[in-house]
Amino acid sequence: MEHVSFRLFEEAVAYYEAMFEAAPHAWASHPLKCLLLDSYSAAAVESPGLMIYRADQVLLHSNTSLLDFVRAAVTVGHEIAHQWFGNTVAIGEWGDLWLNEGFATFFSYEFLKHNLEEETVEDLRWTQVYVPALENDRKSATHPVFFQPDNAQALFDKITYYKSASILKQYEREVMRNLNDYFLNFSSSLISTKLFLQFMPEFEKEHLLGKGAASVKIHKILGRQVLSKTSYIFEELTVCYRTKDKGEKTLNLVTGKNVPLPADFAFLNCNAASFYSVSFPKELNPSLLGPSNLEALNERELSYLIMTLRFEKNVEGLLQISSFVLKRARWISTNALIHAFEQLFSKNGVPNAIKDWLEELTAPVLARICEKKKKTNDETLLLSIFLRTRRRRIICASSQFSSLISPPARISYHPVRRECNLWNHPEEKWKLQLLPSRNRDSTLKFINF
Ligand SMILES: [Zn+2]
Repeated sequence: MEHVSFRLFEEAVAYYEAMFEAAPHAWASHPLKCLLLDSYSAAAVESPGLMIYRADQVLLHSNTSLLDFVRAAVTVGHEIAHQWFGNTVAIGEWGDLWLNEGFATFFSYEFLKHNLEEETVEDLRWTQVYVPALENDRKSATHPVFFQPDNAQALFDKITYYKSASILKQYEREVMRNLNDYFLNFSSSLISTKLFLQFMPEFEKEHLLGKGAASVKIHKILGRQVLSKTSYIFEELTVCYRTKDKGEKTLNLVTGKNVPLPADFAFLNCNAASFYSVSFPKELNPSLLGPSNLEALNERELSYLIMTLRFEKNVEGLLQISSFVLKRARWISTNALIHAFEQLFSKNGVPNAIKDWLEELTAPVLARICEKKKKTNDETLLLSIFLRTRRRRIICASSQFSSLISPPARISYHPVRRECNLWNHPEEKWKLQLLPSRNRDSTLKFINF
C-alpha cells in the first residue's frame, strides 16, 4: 500500500528551503528527523531537527479523500515550518507565540500550493483559517494576538494560530518581500512583537495589540446606502468592495464618518482578504441580496456574505439567497450555507420546514452535478460537495483530486427513486437517498454498504 504522506515530508523541506533561501538551518549539525507514533497526546510537536507526529494525522493511503490529504499536508507543513519560525528565528516570551504559530500556519497553506491549485488553497484557507479566526474574535473571551496570559496554555487557541495567520495573509506582499531580510536580521537573536513591528512598519499595530476584529456597517440614511466603521480599533480602515460589473474598488473609512456607497456597489471585502466583519440591517436584504449583486461575487465573497448573514442571525436573508447558492453548486458557498443553518439552529436543531426545503433544493443540485459528471466530466464544476446530516458527513471528491489521491469517483443518480450512488474508491460505496419531503421527520439518509 502506498503512503503518499511520506513524500510530503521531503516536499515540505525542499519547498521551504527554496522559499527561505537566506535562512540558516536550525538543524545544521544533523539531518532533519521525523518520528511517527501510533498514539500521542498531541497531533504533532517539534523541536530543532526533530518532528513528532501522531501517525493517524499524517499517514495517508493512496485512496484517501481530499480533506484527509489537506489535513496531512497542513500538519506536515506546519511542523516543518517551525524549523524556521520557532527554531531558526526564536521567541523569548510566551506573549510572542503568535510569531511562531501564525507563520507556521500561514506557510503550511502556502505549502499546499505545491500539490493543489492556488484557487483551491485560498478557498481552503478561507474555510479552515479565516472563518474560525473571525468567529472566535467575535467572542467576549477573545484576546489580542500579542497576549501575555498567566497560564501559557491559554495561548494555544484559534486567535494565536488562525487570526495571526489571517493577518499575515492580509500583509502577504510585505511578508514575502521582507522574508529573507527577516531571517538575516533575526536568525541569531530573539524576535519579539515590538521588533517585528519595527521591522515591518506596514503592519497596523492594532491588528496585533487590539482585541476583536474591526467591523463596518452598511446602513441607510435619508434613503441612501452608507458605510461606516463600528469598531474603533483602527483610526482609518481601507476596505475593498466588489462592483456589480465584477470590478474591484476601494474606500477609505475614518472614525465617525459615513461614506455614501456608489450605485455600482455589490459587496465588501474582495476575496475575503482583510480581517474585519460586516453587518447590515434586514431592511437592506432586498437591495444587497439582489441577483445582480450576488452574480458579481466570487465564491469566497459569497461565503463571506453568508457568514455575515449568520453572524447577524438574518435568517430571511439566508433563505433569500439559498436558491442562488444551490443553483451555483460550488462547494465553498454550499458548505457555508449548510454550516450557517447548522450554527443558527444548533441548539434546537434545524426546523423541519427548513430541513425539507433544503432537501427539496438539494435534490436538483445533486442531479445537476451527477448529470454534468456523466456528460461533460467538467472538472471545474465541483471540487467536492459536503452533504451533512446530523453528525454524518460524506465527501464526494471530484476526479481532479481523485487523479492525485484516489481512483476517480463514480456517481450515479436515479431521478425517479431519488437515489444517488457514490463510489469514492472500489471498497467504499455510499448510497444517498433523498426521502420524500412529506415525511416530516425525514432527512438525508446515508447507507454504507
Ligand atoms: Zn505550531
